Amino acid sequence: MSQTKQYPKLLEPLDLGYTKLRSRTIMGSMHTGLEEDSEGLGKMAEFFAARAKGGVGLLITGGFSPSVRGGLGPHSSAMITAADAQRHEIVTRRVHEEGGLIALQLLNAGRQSYSQELIAPSPIRSPIYPFVPHELTDAEVENEVESFVNAAELAKSAGYDGVEVMGSEGYIINQFLSERANQRTDQWGGSYENRMRFPLEIVSRIRKRVGEEFIIVYRLSLIDLVPGGSTWEEVIILAKAIEAAGVTIINSGIGWHEARIPTIATMVPRAAFTSITAQLKKEVSVPVCASNRINTPEVAEQVLEDDEADLVSMARPMLADPEFVNKARNGQRANINICIGCNQACLDHTFSGKRASCLVNPQACHETELVYVPTKQPKKVAVVGAGPGGLAYARVAAERGHNVTLFDAQSELGGQFNYAKQIPGKEEFYETITYFKAELEQYGVDIRLGKKVTASELINGGFDHVILATGIVPRALEIEGINNSNVLSYIDVIRDKKPVGKSVAIIGAGGIGFDVAELLSHGTANTSLDKQAFFEQWGIDASLNSRSGIEGVKENFEASPKEIFLLQRKTTKIGAGLGKTTGWTHRTTLTNKGVNMINGVTYRKIDDAGLHITVNDEERLLAVDNVIICAGQESLKELQAPLKAANVSVQLVGGADLAVELDAKRAIDQGSRLAAEL
Ligand code: FAD
Ligand code: NAP
Ligand code: SF4
Repeated sequence: MSQTKQYPKLLEPLDLGYTKLRSRTIMGSMHTGLEEDSEGLGKMAEFFAARAKGGVGLLITGGFSPSVRGGLGPHSSAMITAADAQRHEIVTRRVHEEGGLIALQLLNAGRQSYSQELIAPSPIRSPIYPFVPHELTDAEVENEVESFVNAAELAKSAGYDGVEVMGSEGYIINQFLSERANQRTDQWGGSYENRMRFPLEIVSRIRKRVGEEFIIVYRLSLIDLVPGGSTWEEVIILAKAIEAAGVTIINSGIGWHEARIPTIATMVPRAAFTSITAQLKKEVSVPVCASNRINTPEVAEQVLEDDEADLVSMARPMLADPEFVNKARNGQRANINICIGCNQACLDHTFSGKRASCLVNPQACHETELVYVPTKQPKKVAVVGAGPGGLAYARVAAERGHNVTLFDAQSELGGQFNYAKQIPGKEEFYETITYFKAELEQYGVDIRLGKKVTASELINGGFDHVILATGIVPRALEIEGINNSNVLSYIDVIRDKKPVGKSVAIIGAGGIGFDVAELLSHGTANTSLDKQAFFEQWGIDASLNSRSGIEGVKENFEASPKEIFLLQRKTTKIGAGLGKTTGWTHRTTLTNKGVNMINGVTYRKIDDAGLHITVNDEERLLAVDNVIICAGQESLKELQAPLKAANVSVQLVGGADLAVELDAKRAIDQGSRLAAEL
């Protein structure tokens, strides 16, 4: 069977008359930090060129502000002058050389800005941004509208095939549309007709200025997920109006940034919100595009097959694998490096002011710096440990032409990812293991599982180079009673499935402590796989009868079947070290399930009665059945000394190198970089 037949809808071109999208895929807009690169847009050009080469139908850049005061921050990217447009020519040229199409996203942040010069329809501060915005005068609103039109014209002059007008996620267009942020009484406020004048003027004036043969995508907020957002009736009125005003494609936006509901984290079911796009599709004639947590070709195909949308937008999945579409076309599904929705290297970086990348693909946004060049001198390499660090090293070294043997004591590839994948809401981690397995097979890595390799085997194995990616051991604690029979490690619980009583105390509230609490507090609702269960838990009305999709709907978290205490010694907020964009979702979930979080704890002893602690100078007994240790890890590198003594060339990767603040992002990045240098 030809693979085009396997994903026939996804791989079908979309003919717009004057131009054609090669597949039904849009790479959705993501701010990567390359937009503001001091050396110009050369890196951004190669970033998009790789995705164009990979078969994406339409690429959309990160947001560029059409006006000085509309930026996301004081010096953020903008498209205001002819000189700005000229800087972009390298981007459009490289994408076109690779046969792709690209649109520039026009984003005016309004009150969602870190600039002190921020603007908005009304002087109401966003709850998650620091400054009160300046209220635009009528003339200033006119200027902001015109700035979008000017920017679209400049984009066209720079060679872009279109623009996306950013009308979702709570940016200025949303702010005009909703009474939550717009309390004006002039022609831009009051009735819905007045409130939607801002986006409508933008779209109709852009269309007039750029002519018919230029793509205008409008990112429409389908469900705001904040109190006081749009009703579904208002969304449809706007959709029909912008269609009449000349948009080419309507893309889906889900939730404002200030919404307290996760919309893209890995705990969100795949394609969770496509039923809402399907409702929009019934109301308009232009192609509509579904988005959010669509991360595999089969999920995308299903969305199209079910006629929920005409196109699918995937932003992070294209960061994870620029060749996503080509691999789907060529029957290499298992070789697609699937986005696991972790946000660790993309959004967490962006929101910390760092350049984005991807946990599973460190080349993302570093296309010109991290290059895997075929070797001229193949070496015989042993990689010990098939966790993320060892897998990444083995993959890159083998791709470059080295002769790689990969050892692991366990019977399966993946290292600690085999624990992570068992946590409810982390099912995507299976995909990374599948990907590495397929790639290692493709590049001919000799995989030896189920045997702990010894120093003498490595010394006598005739290897030119040995990589120790042997990971970690859980930190041993010196608390009185630590060897009591009621004490378990996270490995006992996750891997060995040792029975856990009705009440537990978890020592350590880092990533693993949270994951163990998630595992043990999990009830019957499968909220990361079952869309309805997810909607019920977070109080979302997908039938769209409630304003904003939430008003009048109660959250409904299933209480934990066990009594759980999650503990740390630090007096800082529990979970403060979790991911910037996802930590709050984990804290909210556990709190709502009734998990008790206690900070500032001193551990005194463990006995059959439970865990004895001191908090705020007060001695307490947590009368629990089990105490589970999730107190960090220490490097496992026992093979290093004998190998060095035998003059074997040896390098450490991942946890074996440094256990402090280890995560898979660092392990994969380090493994890939070292292998690129071999
Ligand atoms: P490991 O994954 O520890 O792999 C080491 C491998 O070496 C093991 O498979 C071991 O069997 C093998 N080995 C050791 N000695 C030998 C020997 N002598 N011979 C043969 N084989 C040997 N990180 C994130 O970034 N995001 C997350 O969301 C996340 N969630 C997690 C959830 C859980 C429950 C856990 C436990 C971890 C999580 N992590 C997460 C952490 C992440 O998995 C680790 O940082 C990562 O696996 C470290 O990779 P590594 O390659 O250094 O070692
Ligand atoms: P961690 O994040 O470093 O947390 C260790 C916890 O143990 C902390 O709460 C720490 O808090 C406590 N602790 C440390 N030393 C202790 C001691 N001697 N006695 C008692 N408590 C002690 O490590 P982890 O949870 O083991 O996770 C390992 C790595 O995997 C982390 O780096 C993490 O990034 C990664 N991971 C990430 C995720 C994710 O979702 N991104 C999920 C799981 C794991 P106090 O010192 O305040 O007590
Ligand atoms: Fe996806 Fe994580 Fe990569 Fe971001 S860092 S693109 S969420 S896998």
